[in-house]
Amino acid sequence: MDELANAPLARYTTLKIGGNARRVCHPKTIDELVQLVGQMNGEPWYVIGGGSNLLISSEGFDGSVIRTTDLTEIKQISESQLEAAAGARLPHLAKFAAQKGYSGLEFAVGIPGTVGGGVIMNAGAHGSCMANIVDTVTYFDSEAKKLVTLKNDEVGFVYRKCKLDPQKHVIVSAVFNLPHGEAEEIVAKTKHNEEYRMRTQPIGFPNAGSTFKNPDPDRSAGFLLDKSGAKNMQEGKAAVSELHANFVVNMGGATSHDVANLVGRMQEMVQEQFHVRMLPEWKTLGKFTDEELRAWKS
Ligand SMILES: Cc1cc2nc3c(=O)[nH]c(=O)nc-3n(C[C@H](O)[C@H](O)[C@H](O)COP(=O)(O)OP(=O)(O)OC[C@H]3O[C@@H](n4cnc5c(N)ncnc54)[C@H](O)[C@@H]3O)c2cc1C
Repeated sequence: MDELANAPLARYTTLKIGGNARRVCHPKTIDELVQLVGQMNGEPWYVIGGGSNLLISSEGFDGSVIRTTDLTEIKQISESQLEAAAGARLPHLAKFAAQKGYSGLEFAVGIPGTVGGGVIMNAGAHGSCMANIVDTVTYFDSEAKKLVTLKNDEVGFVYRKCKLDPQKHVIVSAVFNLPHGEAEEIVAKTKHNEEYRMRTQPIGFPNAGSTFKNPDPDRSAGFLLDKSGAKNMQEGKAAVSELHANFVVNMGGATSHDVANLVGRMQEMVQEQFHVRMLPEWKTLGKFTDEELRAWKS
């Protein structure tokens, strides 16, 4: 296992923001991951995957960050099932599945997270989400200190979340139901989704995807923010993207405080104009003031 002491976290988040952690660990096998979490004994820890849905404090995190991104194994279990380790990247998994003729993961090609983060967030796009394709999820229960496998209907999937608590339940792998189909068609659909993403999202600047969850199926957060005039709002070096009003971008040197304050202002703007209180999709880690986290209070 690789272990870095006093390591900066910004490099592990897509927003490129985050101060130092006491240590960052990269387990190389599921056994190493389980052993590591099992031995924490009261030390603060936090597991991350792609860091693509995370706002980490610029003050850092006084504990261990466990990064799953070296756990990338994908197994073909049958003609219609794949098993992937927690750190497998969703775009890679989607392309692997397509090339081998497994259908169902086309939606995930533009989601720059991992299997573990994807399950926790019930990540979705293009009309589908993890809940539609997961067969089972296996996690390490850090309190009971044992591996547990849940069936899809036990995971408690709802819009952009599930009942698993990332601070107790460390996902080690998931099995996906992916009916066999024509590889050429699946590859074409996957490519189409990938190209659509490139056109519609501000890929030029560091960001963490959608900032807010959609408040209801008929009104997207992006629409409400756009109509409220949020585009180009700025706080320090953090700004609302010109291309997509639900994306906050780091224009270079933004701090977590800039971003959190901007998220608060975006929420207030929509609340004032539409009387709708939107909630952020992102998780936060490390020190923030109550004022900075006001948007996260439901
Ligand atoms: C450009 C861009 C586009 C995006 N598009 C979409 C989209 O279309 N749809 C969508 O739903 N999301 C989207 N996202 C957000 C993000 O990619 C997803 O939420 C993704 O599922 C997060 O996975 P991750 O591995 O990066 O998780 P992280 O950001 O690393 O972590 C998120 C949460 O999951 C937990 N976690 C991570 N791994 C594990 C594990 N093994 N066990 C337990 N808990 C774990 C963390 O503790 C944290 O609470 C986008 C992000 C970006 C930057």
